[in-house]
Amino acid sequence: AYDHDWSEDYLFKVVLMGDSAVGKSNLLSRYVRNEFSVNTKATIGVEFQTQSMEIDGKEVKAQIWDTAGQERFRAVTSAYYRGAMGALIVYDISRRQTFESALRWLEELRVYSDASVVTMLVGNKCDLAHLREVSVEEATALAEAESLFFIETSALDSTNVKGAFQTVIKEIYGIVS
Ligand code: GDP
Ligand code: MG
Repeated sequence: AYDHDWSEDYLFKVVLMGDSAVGKSNLLSRYVRNEFSVNTKATIGVEFQTQSMEIDGKEVKAQIWDTAGQERFRAVTSAYYRGAMGALIVYDISRRQTFESALRWLEELRVYSDASVVTMLVGNKCDLAHLREVSVEEATALAEAESLFFIETSALDSTNVKGAFQTVIKEIYGIVS
């Protein structure tokens, strides 16, 4: 316990973006606490949560910012994006409109943050395959065109949730270390 070199540790800010009700808050609570809620209210008002992982024997902390519902009014402020090194742009695979919004969220990210922000397009609710309105092919094409990472997740059944966050965090680490 006494040989830990704190100077070796890292703290990265990562922001969640995307339309209302795509599952941002549940992705975060699934990742940080392994919890899922059918009711949104539980997570409203939380600014950010911190989760650590180990990379190369170092503690790498991600401070993950969640909106408190202001995305409904497109009123996410520049302070939200300030200093972000990673971003997850989330849409709901069962609601096409939220996928179309992803491009607008990407434009907003590019206005307010550094060009080097590691950005992942996240198609959430992949458990709702029977209601799918956005194909994997289409989302992959958008991700390639815009140089984004892409993954489908389910906060409900946990599919790829860790992978989504950890890919972004590892990529940031690779850039700064
Ligand atoms: P936010 O507004 O983007 O933060 O979305 P929430 O996390 O509040 O989720 C909105 C609704 O979608 C809630 O009723 C959640 O229970 C539900 N939800 C979130 N993620 C998933 C998922 O992966 N699958 C399914 N089926 N429902 C989800
Ligand atoms: Mg939320």
